[in-house]
Amino acid sequence: MELHTLSIHEARTALDKGEISPVELTNALFKRIDSVEPKIKAYVTIAREHALARATDAEGRIKNGDRGLLLGISLAVKDNMCTDGIRTTCSSKILENFIPPYESTVTQKLKDQGFILIGKTNLDEFAMGSSTENSAFGRTHNPWDLETVPGGSSGGSAAAVASDMCIAALGSDTGGSIRQPASFCGVVGLKPTYGRVSRYGLVAFASSLDQIGPITKNVRDSAMLMNIISGHDPDDSTSAPIAVPDFTSGLGRDIKGMRIGIPSEYFIEGIDKEVEESVKQAIRKLEALGAVPVEISLPHTGYAVAAYYIIATSEASSNLARYDGVKYGARTEGNDLLDMYMKTRAKGFGAEIKRRIILGTYSLSSGYYDAYYKKAQQVRTLIKQDFENAFKKADVIVTPTSPTPAFRSGEKTDDPLHMYLADIFTISVNLAGVPGISIPCGFSSGNLPIGLQIIG
Ligand code: GLN
Repeated sequence: MELHTLSIHEARTALDKGEISPVELTNALFKRIDSVEPKIKAYVTIAREHALARATDAEGRIKNGDRGLLLGISLAVKDNMCTDGIRTTCSSKILENFIPPYESTVTQKLKDQGFILIGKTNLDEFAMGSSTENSAFGRTHNPWDLETVPGGSSGGSAAAVASDMCIAALGSDTGGSIRQPASFCGVVGLKPTYGRVSRYGLVAFASSLDQIGPITKNVRDSAMLMNIISGHDPDDSTSAPIAVPDFTSGLGRDIKGMRIGIPSEYFIEGIDKEVEESVKQAIRKLEALGAVPVEISLPHTGYAVAAYYIIATSEASSNLARYDGVKYGARTEGNDLLDMYMKTRAKGFGAEIKRRIILGTYSLSSGYYDAYYKKAQQVRTLIKQDFENAFKKADVIVTPTSPTPAFRSGEKTDDPLHMYLADIFTISVNLAGVPGISIPCGFSSGNLPIGLQIIG
């Protein structure tokens, strides 16, 4: 048994039976990191000493009968979630040396269950992107083909899970950033319902869309992590005060009679033929298992990309205003205060961040607000209504996660619009606030993973 390939539930069983020790497991993961990380570059920070100390501690605690669900298990966390005392960069120059003085709620919850933080993973700067090419610290490579992108923005987390450099990871999803990289890397990525998981300590990108969720090797691990990270948090007023069910109780259930909605708008021209075929094959398989396919329509899908890139950039322009070199952000001195602000932001932010701040500021400015921001919010309501109507006919909706498998790095970097359009199948889910999961559903002829999205 190669220890680094274990999933959470397999590791838990082996640790509880005393077949392996936390130190052994952690060492196996570092051995794996030493051999593949130089090629993949999934991590911004590898917390080797911290992790080994935690592993030794876990060893003693297991002997003393401590039964933390994640005791001795190493997870990676996207580098936009604050970890007390451990650098949190958002893959941005402006936060290159930011060491948070507090712990985010999600990582605290993982800590309460004894997890080991093995490292902080690479992302598109401030989670803005779909390829993990927008990182100030270099791009991450897709483990299935190093010349292709791992997806984004949680590309580091997805690549680390796919290449067994951690047992599982957390990502964040504003417009697809958990599901699309999970699909590109052949792993499971879940964006929970808006409000299900606290974002306290998540560096905000677009606050009405951001959600944290698990990236795992299988669905059982996803459910296990959801049991741990979900729930109301007084420190995040947008977290829902709703009881958390046992997500694992839904596993392995019969799907006989389940109505699976197939939206015609998601099987359109431009979608890769192999992706379409794989997804259709998966639908036939679900049918063979007793599910009932129903045709549904999400008629405003065509407006989702436009509405999303107005709303997300508007919120980002507001959220990122705090990085001015005074309290937050690596300061670049200037001749006066204004000059200091300008130099700090010019030097600290990458091109994509600047593009979005400019776009968002424009959409929110007087005279344009009604035409852009308000209009986008109205479209958002229509998109939400599309889902409400669809769920009268269907229990779940099944779609491709992305119109193509992983693309080659550099292929879309010169054309931001081209990059934005690739988010077409994931962003409506965020606009509507509903949950979506990407699970593996086969491979392209080029041996790249294909993802199936299931929307609840
Ligand atoms: N690709 C989308 C964007 O660039 C989504 C990013 C995300 O979900 N964080 O905004």
